Amino acid sequence: MDLTERRNLRGGRPIWTSDEKRIPRADALPSGTIDVAIIGAGIMGAMLAERLARGGRSVVVLDRRPPAHGSTAASTALIQWAMDVPLTHLAREIGADEAARRWRRIYKAVGDLRERIDAEAIDCSLLDRPELYLEGKLLNADSLREEGEARIAAGLPSRYLAAGAVTERFGIAPAAALTDTAFTLDPVSLTLALLDRARGHGATLCFPADVTGVSGAIELTLADGRTLHAREAILATGYERSRWFVPPEFAVASSFAIATPPMDPFPWREEALIWQASDPYLYVRPTSDGRVLAGGADESFADAARRDARIDAKGGTIAAAVAAMIATQPLLVDHAWAATFGTSPDGLPAIGRAAHHDGLWVAAGFGGNGISFALLASDIICGALDGAPDEDADCFSPYRFKTP
Ligand SMILES: Cc1cc2nc3c(=O)[nH]c(=O)nc-3n(C[C@H](O)[C@H](O)[C@H](O)COP(=O)(O)OP(=O)(O)OC[C@H]3O[C@@H](n4cnc5c(N)ncnc54)[C@H](O)[C@@H]3O)c2cc1C
Repeated sequence: MDLTERRNLRGGRPIWTSDEKRIPRADALPSGTIDVAIIGAGIMGAMLAERLARGGRSVVVLDRRPPAHGSTAASTALIQWAMDVPLTHLAREIGADEAARRWRRIYKAVGDLRERIDAEAIDCSLLDRPELYLEGKLLNADSLREEGEARIAAGLPSRYLAAGAVTERFGIAPAAALTDTAFTLDPVSLTLALLDRARGHGATLCFPADVTGVSGAIELTLADGRTLHAREAILATGYERSRWFVPPEFAVASSFAIATPPMDPFPWREEALIWQASDPYLYVRPTSDGRVLAGGADESFADAARRDARIDAKGGTIAAAVAAMIATQPLLVDHAWAATFGTSPDGLPAIGRAAHHDGLWVAAGFGGNGISFALLASDIICGALDGAPDEDADCFSPYRFKTP
């Protein structure tokens, strides 16, 4: 069995451009023993590479595809600390204190990601916008009020707005939880910029490099027979899971998205990020060139042919649902796409040492906040390698649902 699954990760026409002109040249595979080999050149691998190389380690990033050609190129990239599983629901499962600890840690990751982008002066079409979490089938107005109170009790900056207050400010009918610390970005530009920064610190970027096996401490075998030696290796392979090291609780499904042509005037106030407390949820966001980007209509299957056959129909469904949610004219669809999407029971990622293999790590951003989870993974793994373990690392262990 190969080290990781092989999937057709996306179909249709995502909005982000990752054309040949933007792809950096590939480096030769280094010889000798590298400090850290990262398998995967999506946002997860890029974030890890930049951080590790900046810290002075020798780093190689390997990918079977060109950089940023996996799930990252299909992401709708809303960066928010509110997660798929409401805080009040997670608290029922693991207790209020533990749920609050996890939410605060993601809140920190979102703030740190914002700071990192500024510090590196990365141009990734970033937009700071208010975020509205609307009442839906998962949380009605009363439950949403409780959710808002739980967030505040956890020390998180959130406000509950009754339906009238939402209508007055945003022109939308339902009650909502409001936060002011969300943003959107172009995930391909961010990934390519981070890889560029990593290379500036000496990292090597090798593709196509299809890693088929890992043995010892540590030898990576490539599909073409080449080998590479590293002190540590990180599986940043996204939704192409390693069955050896990623437990089945981290599941894959399908999600769908659309983008309209640029709209002037923009169809709702303050260009807020809006999503519904439903499962699956519908969400919308602006882009920097004035498009409406919307997603949802998830399906539990991950078969790519079945998924891609539904792109047009799902695009129509999403456009109609958004028009109903924000009471606008029907939306025109300029881009429509589908992608594999990863979920976990608590909406949180798999980050930590791989079971039964010294020097091997898992960094997989399952859940709707995968981009912030990449920043979190860089904190946890770099902290451990630097001898300063992250005090919240146990919350995100790949094996938290049962012992491996
Ligand atoms: C439709 C959609 C909407 C989303 N919306 C949001 C959102 O709003 N906000 C948010 O934060 N997150 C969102 N996410 C999640 C987020 O985009 C993902 O978590 C993230 O992009 C995954 O990045 P990655 O680097 O882990 O995976 P990828 O980008 O897939 O990169 C992994 C790489 O590993 C490579 N690879 C795999 N196996 C091997 C191997 N054996 N050898 C060599 N290379 C290998 C692959 O080729 C791939 O390039 C969304 C995702 C999707 C699909």
